Amino acid sequence: TARFDGNVVVVTGAGQGIGAAIARSFAEQGATVVVTDIRADTATTTATEINAATGATVLARPLDVTRSAEVAALADQVVAEHGRVDVLVNNAGIVLGAASFDYDDDTWNRTLAVNLSGPFYTAREFGRRMRGRGGAIVNVSSVAALRAPRADPHIGYDATKAGVIALTRSLAAEWAPEGIRVNAVAPGYTNTDILKAVGSENPEVVAGWRSHIPQGRLAEPVEIAQAVRFLASTEASAVTGHVLVADGGYST
Ligand code: NAD
Repeated sequence: TARFDGNVVVVTGAGQGIGAAIARSFAEQGATVVVTDIRADTATTTATEINAATGATVLARPLDVTRSAEVAALADQVVAEHGRVDVLVNNAGIVLGAASFDYDDDTWNRTLAVNLSGPFYTAREFGRRMRGRGGAIVNVSSVAALRAPRADPHIGYDATKAGVIALTRSLAAEWAPEGIRVNAVAPGYTNTDILKAVGSENPEVVAGWRSHIPQGRLAEPVEIAQAVRFLASTEASAVTGHVLVADGGYST
């Protein structure tokens, strides 16, 4: 496996779930990792746990990705403290579920702000600081961008995660001359708290999802982290603008 010794990796929404697994996976390969989250408490706990488990330098920084000035300030701070940023993982995301007839403006706008404006702001700010010297950006999309949910509607989520794929492709083409690769992973149903919004505490609901997944199970966060780490690594040096689906076959 390619290692990340000497690399500085920033992960958004990394206080828990898939983001925490991503942060840990880079720390295990020698990276200095900046664990950011809108929740300062989970960011701190996760950074402390990863540091204890791996011995890597792991910092916790509060960051709301919907606030572009906060994103720019953090990007400046990371470069001031570490001299570089090599990898950005846009993982922060929310699911707000409701039937589309009842999906109100606030629900729609909040979803757009976190899931689409957030990845754009962070890509722009960290991309500016990767410019010319190179780097890798990995955006976390979703299989919801590729296959409509059947029983758990979340229209804003689906639209923003499809937007993340367009963002990925366009930035990949525009920034390839700068040495910046931009890719996405599209996870299927993965075992984290986010699924509570669509009924994961009900075993019948989960059984319904599993019946549509050829592997017959949800993914674990570490399995998504491995896909992210591959795309960010030198092993993927010719890969840019790609969407790596990690969904147990759900979208097939
Ligand atoms: P999660 O709810 O466990 O974690 C999401 C994290 O994002 C939380 O720590 C939360 O505090 C943080 N966050 C929310 N709003 C934020 C903001 N404005 N700024 C910064 N951080 C913010 O969910 P997860 O499953 O780990 O989700 C991680 C990513 O994976 C999301 O983009 C999600 O859409 C995507 N995803 C998840 C699944 C799944 O089934 N779990 C499937 C496909 C895609």
